Amino acid sequence: MGAFLAPFARADERLPGPSPAPVMKTAHESAAMPNADAMREAENVLRELKAGNKRFRAGRARHPHMTVARIRETARGQHPFAVVLSCADSRVPPEIFLDQGIGDLFTVRVAGNVANTDEIASVEYAVEHLSTPLCVVVGHTRCGAVTAVVNGDKVSAEIAHLVQHIGEAVEKTRKHKPALEGSQLIEESVRVNVWESIEDLTRGSETIAGRVHQGRLKVVGAVYNVETGAVDWMGTNSGALSILR
Ligand SMILES: [Zn+2]
Repeated sequence: MGAFLAPFARADERLPGPSPAPVMKTAHESAAMPNADAMREAENVLRELKAGNKRFRAGRARHPHMTVARIRETARGQHPFAVVLSCADSRVPPEIFLDQGIGDLFTVRVAGNVANTDEIASVEYAVEHLSTPLCVVVGHTRCGAVTAVVNGDKVSAEIAHLVQHIGEAVEKTRKHKPALEGSQLIEESVRVNVWESIEDLTRGSETIAGRVHQGRLKVVGAVYNVETGAVDWMGTNSGALSILR
């Protein structure tokens, strides 16, 4: 972690004076960071998350930042280096499969990793007030929410509202790849649903769209495999971000 941590000053070094910064209200110095540096930071963060998943899969997880000292350090202010939007599924905990610890990831979890108003606002908070340089939207294989939509299962009005965006993803998948069915249709819909959420994030927040447009925020898609523990990094879909052009 040594080399990786270099771009991220210790929390107490960022603070202007001895008084502790309130949690969730710290001004992040990289807010004024030149765009090229912000993108380099985003690439460093992405590299570390990829390395973390490799460690996890290989049984060599380091479980970083889990100490009492880390709790005390982060109590003075949080500086997460990535915001992660992922499914609430119990098999898909981002801190564990990316081998990160306390204060590292600003995590938003909701069934089907959809981006409705609350999720968009949460991601926007991390991006704007914590100047997080990287946003990862993570879907996963065998997702119950996506499966329910593909199968047309009867659900309550609340769940129907929750999964409305997944319906759009499944529709797009059926339209573009009509030959797919069963588990193949579900797995492809999971991927399309990730792009759908990225599109909803940028379409639903001027702040998020603005930061991407200015080169101050990188948004990438990924799918976690619940059978192998591996993350399939999908990169940035220019189509999903077409609204910015
Ligand atoms: Zn799921």
